[in-house]
Amino acid sequence: MTDYPDLQLYIGGAWKRTSASQPVVNPASEAVIGQVPVATRLDMDDALDAAQGGFKVWMRFSPRKRAEILLRAAALMRERVDEIARAITLEHGKPFPQARLEVIRGCEFFEWDAAEGQRIYGRVIPSEPGIKYIVHHQPIGMVAAFSPWNFPLSQPARKIAGALAAGCSIIMKASEETPAGAMHIARALHDAGLPPGVMNLIFGVPSEISEYLIPQPPVRLVAFTGSTSVGKRLTRLAADYMKPVLMELGGHAPVIVCDDVDPAAAAAASAARKARNAGQVCTSPTRFFVQDGIYAAFVDAFVDRARSVIVGDGFESATEMGPLANDRRITAMEALISDAAQRGARVLTGGRRLDRPGYFFPVTVLADVPDPARVMREEPFGPLAVINPVSSIDEAIQKANGLPFGLAAYAFTHSAARADQLAEGIEAGNVSINTLEASVAETPFGGMKESGYGREGGTEGLLNYTVVKNISHSMTIQR
Ligand code: NAD
Repeated sequence: MTDYPDLQLYIGGAWKRTSASQPVVNPASEAVIGQVPVATRLDMDDALDAAQGGFKVWMRFSPRKRAEILLRAAALMRERVDEIARAITLEHGKPFPQARLEVIRGCEFFEWDAAEGQRIYGRVIPSEPGIKYIVHHQPIGMVAAFSPWNFPLSQPARKIAGALAAGCSIIMKASEETPAGAMHIARALHDAGLPPGVMNLIFGVPSEISEYLIPQPPVRLVAFTGSTSVGKRLTRLAADYMKPVLMELGGHAPVIVCDDVDPAAAAAASAARKARNAGQVCTSPTRFFVQDGIYAAFVDAFVDRARSVIVGDGFESATEMGPLANDRRITAMEALISDAAQRGARVLTGGRRLDRPGYFFPVTVLADVPDPARVMREEPFGPLAVINPVSSIDEAIQKANGLPFGLAAYAFTHSAARADQLAEGIEAGNVSINTLEASVAETPFGGMKESGYGREGGTEGLLNYTVVKNISHSMTIQR
């Protein structure tokens, strides 16, 4: 397969090779497929200079002109969807059709943000005659952004599209494990005519880059998606320099299944969703709390669907779920499953790595998992579901809210009263009822509690990349 791109840094509108690099591995074969460049301190300084210059130019572009470039870039990515999706499947392992959908989703972020960037309205506050109070949202400035490996294109797309649509420049440090998606975004923006320095792409040693960039005075916002522990570290560093943060962190999504729904339909939808991206999604449905009247039927149907998921190479047409993205996920899954089993949980399907090259792990279902089991508190970030019975909706809400996470949550019910109780009572930034979709381009996505701070997507998402300025303008000189 020769579809994997020649990876380079993108700084000040130019592609750049480095003397140091590290290998990119195909998780389906464990073969090295490319080399990702490692940025030096000099490269980071170049990116800072470029992004400062880029911001001065871009902030003066009219929102309409910005939108034209962002829409052109999205159109180019749509034209290149197969090429980009092949690179994503190679570096991440997800099935090719899912990689294609990811590219389309990334384009939707660009398209929606491009349009919404033209509607970042301010206010004129009613005042005494002779004075005007005008509130407006200015672009916040240069953004330092960090994206993870689970969605190589759509994760960096969220941040780049939001920042650029709001008039900011950005230094994007994308994942070294899955760098091709971000590279394709840079290529599309370059080809669409983005001025040099507005978007810069670097890779390297994550901690070295964040520790160097965040304190730099021109950096005005830190945007990160990844684990809660790293998010806290970067937030502490940003606080030392009084920089705002946008943090999309871990989740451990609860799913409350009420006894007024068809358990087989809810279970089949849930098991299929669990397999999406091999469960490596911060919104992946994980902790199932099922009312006891339909518990047995729900568990049986879930296990049936989980067993039917075809696991394999992402380029094989029958494949529903690819490998895990790296061997750290295998280790984490095995540790959580063995801990739960030792504490009395039933392992109903899956449970161990497949005996073949690549990081393949089947959809795994644990039932009747005791509360002290680690998996009840720690996000598995893999194809692992835990299913426990509950005797009431109140008990389900209490369990759903029992963790420090609050990102996505789901419920199945056809009762308007229960839906309202669940939507109001669950502590999560996103509650979805009778659907397992947690976010689309036009809705705000983000966490409560330790799942993060700020929102991406929707009108709220763009506002994160702005700062409010109030202008008091008297028509005469006031004494
Ligand atoms: P990790 O905590 O080492 O890294 C998570 C992400 O943060 C990676 O993209 C990594 O490159 C980056 N990172 C790590 N240290 C950094 C630093 N000092 N500065 C800047 N970036 C840094 O864990 P991992 O093994 O890569 O991923 C596993 C965990 O991460 C999962 O359990 C999951 O909770 C979380 N995760 C969350 C998301 C999400 O969408 N919210 C995505 C990927 C990973």
